[in-house]
Amino acid sequence: MEQLKNAFYEVMYKYEKSFSEHGVMANLRAWETAKAPLLTLLRKHPAWQEEAKAVVIEFSEGRGIERDVVDEVSFAMLQIADEVIPEDERPAFLTAFRAAVGEYSSTLPEEALEIIRNSGKIKCASGQKTSRIIGRLCRQFHVDAHSQYNKVFAQLSDALNPLQLQKTAVLSLHPCDFLEMSSKSNTWTSCHNLSSGSYQAGALSYMTDDVSMIFFTVDKEVKDHFYRAPRRTRQMFFLKDCMLYQSRLYPDDSDEITKQNRGIVQKIITTCMEVPNRWVLKTKRDELSECCESGEGSRQYPDYHYQGNLSVLKGTEIQNPIVIGAKPICVCCGSHNRLSHGLKCNCEDQVVCQDCGRTVPRNQTRYMENAFHCNACLHICAVCGSVIHDTMYPAFDRRGNAVEICFDCYHASLEPCAACSVQGVCRIIGNSLCARTAIRHTA
Ligand SMILES: [Zn+2]
Ligand SMILES: [Zn+2]
Ligand SMILES: [Zn+2]
Ligand SMILES: [Zn+2]
Repeated sequence: MEQLKNAFYEVMYKYEKSFSEHGVMANLRAWETAKAPLLTLLRKHPAWQEEAKAVVIEFSEGRGIERDVVDEVSFAMLQIADEVIPEDERPAFLTAFRAAVGEYSSTLPEEALEIIRNSGKIKCASGQKTSRIIGRLCRQFHVDAHSQYNKVFAQLSDALNPLQLQKTAVLSLHPCDFLEMSSKSNTWTSCHNLSSGSYQAGALSYMTDDVSMIFFTVDKEVKDHFYRAPRRTRQMFFLKDCMLYQSRLYPDDSDEITKQNRGIVQKIITTCMEVPNRWVLKTKRDELSECCESGEGSRQYPDYHYQGNLSVLKGTEIQNPIVIGAKPICVCCGSHNRLSHGLKCNCEDQVVCQDCGRTVPRNQTRYMENAFHCNACLHICAVCGSVIHDTMYPAFDRRGNAVEICFDCYHASLEPCAACSVQGVCRIIGNSLCARTAIRHTA
């Protein structure tokens, strides 16, 4: 719980939110109780990561190079080449062209490049795109003069450039993944974002109900602390008994990605349930209107009323409606928050000092270096008067009193002294021998 609490604080600091230890713990206890059955279920998955509170799966999005498509388009290209290239030049073109397409690869090995250089009389270097090399080859033999050339060449380029994106899919129950469901680190945001979202309390509602799971994809480089990473796509899923509801895909609705995400989540759920992965999909709105309900007092935006679909495990029936969202709990006072556009109610603004961990009134703190610090934990430099949250350096004023000064002033105070022959002694007596020390000026 300590780890989750610190992660929760981290998100509150990121968005400069008011919060108290009491309010955060009230949310985390509600989360723990409500999500207990889902946690138990998802923990059964071999790809469950306890620290991330999520099932984490790597997958590749897109398609590979399809050989028959390459063959088909290559044939079309050779046909138009035949119409343009004089007969005596055709064998040279054919040899070079075959070397280029015959690897079924977006780049070519040296052997193939050598053949292309010799027969095609063009320059080509390893690492260059196969499609670029073919383009150059076709220009060399004036195939590009043919009226069909551009169209066929575009098809061939597509066929030789596979869209293979390695991604990481995360089906999460981590509290911070709900808080960051519309992270400001994304290239997009929705109404649930914590900066200014009009439904931001909805993130708390999803976090503390017993059906919501958050699914998102991140770049494959992200290996942990998924809540910190920009979400490429995000989609809410709700699980109740044998019913799995898939809500709207963010940021863009795409049937293809929705289908892919559903496939991943269905498989995760049936793996955990230890049942065959067979579902009946319901997509008609009139069939779906009854299956989802917003929980009383919940504050999430009800996408599921307008978009989404329901998977029902084969052999089971639609039962009671899935009740989505809990009453959000104020992150400051820990009582029921009735406001949608914030994480807290109208109670006093409080924050937790990052240094001492005490909950203090917000107006007795400063936000510096991405966190709140209480006045007691901040220092005032005896020279420049800046409020400092950093290491302080000991010095003496002219009267010989010990004072604390900031890094910059410390260094400034040493500078005139650097050439001083009695530097060590001089420091102890507060640089009072040196004419221009900063500390002496102010003391
Ligand atoms: Zn409150
Ligand atoms: Zn403090
Ligand atoms: Zn200073
Ligand atoms: Zn000196």
